[in-house]
Parts: sequence; C-alpha cells; structure tokens
Amino acid sequence: MHLDHHETLADISAKVHAGVRSVMIDGSALSFERNIALVQSVVAFSHRFDASVEAELGLLGGEEDDKVVADRDELFTSPEAAAAFVSRTGIDSLAVAIGTAHGLYKAAPQLDFARLEKIRQRVSVPLVLHGASGLADEDIRRAIGLGICKVNVAPELKIAFSGALKYYLLEHPDATDPRHYMPPAKRAMQAVVDKVITLCGSEGKG
Ligand SMILES: [Zn+2]
Repeated sequence: MHLDHHETLADISAKVHAGVRSVMIDGSALSFERNIALVQSVVAFSHRFDASVEAELGLLGGEEDDKVVADRDELFTSPEAAAAFVSRTGIDSLAVAIGTAHGLYKAAPQLDFARLEKIRQRVSVPLVLHGASGLADEDIRRAIGLGICKVNVAPELKIAFSGALKYYLLEHPDATDPRHYMPPAKRAMQAVVDKVITLCGSEGKG
C-alpha cells in the first residue's frame, strides 16, 4: 500500500504508525527550499520505520484533488535542481514533471524526453511518472526506456470501475447487493491493470 500526494508530515506519520511503508510527500507547490525542508523531515521520520519516500519536483499540469496547475513550461523539473533535491533530501524515488498532467487529456501531451534523459543522467534513484492515463502507449514505453521506474495511472481505473458499475445497475435496476454489483466493476478495473502491467513490461515481476 502506497500513500499518494500527501502534503504534511503529520498526515504521513499517522499512516506510517498505522503500518504503511511507502509514502509520497508532495511539496511541489512550495518554493524549492521549503520543499526540501519538508521532504527532509518526512525522510528522517519515515526511514526510522523503513518506509520508502517518493517526492515531487516541478509541477504537473491538470487537477489533483482541488488544486489546479497551469500548463507552463517553466514548471517542468530542472535536471540540475533534481540532482540537488535528491542528494539533499535522501529520497528513495523522484516524481518528475516532463509534460504529463493529472486528470484526463484533451489531446495527448508532448512529453519532454530530452529533459527526462538529462534528469536520468544526474539522478540515480528510481524516477516516477504521474498522469500516465491517456498517454500514447509508445510514449509510456519510451519514458520507461529513458529511466521511468513507476507509472501512476488513475482516471483509466476510475472510468472502467464506474462504467461497469453503471452498466450493471442499468441492466439490473433492482440490484441492492454489493456482492452482485461490485464484482463486474472490480473485473473491469482489473482488466485495465492487466493491460498497463503488460504495456510497462512488468508481467511476472511482482
Ligand atoms: Zn500524481
């Protein structure tokens, strides 16, 4: 189990105490120095529990919960800043901003692969790609080839789940038993997960 986009040490600490051992601290809305200070505090705490820490540098476009981020080139992750960020914080993985966004795309985005290559050359921890729902398959494979080790997919799963659930309830308007209407929704979500695992070349590696 992994905590995605948490913003405070207090929130992370409560969940690590409850047993979670993989966390993400998202200080990307803060200034560089404040982001580093926040991430350092989370790393110091989490590593005492052998919990791994993912952090983000640069801003993703789109919407994550109630935040809206403008699409602006200067918000992408800088390779130089990424190197300093990783060595000063001691994080275990780094989420990079190279042109993806959270939520659904109106058109497939142009990813900055040259930037990803430069980040990979300067940073040795695993790199993470958020906002992968709706990217072209070739772009996901190319990003993995250039050093992305973890791919975050969300809207595709939600759409599959809710679509199958709505279909079932339309076909069975009197259904009231979650044991009947939940399995088809879960199977639809599982089919997307299977597809993404294959696309990422991750079959049999779990
Ligand atoms: Zn994300």
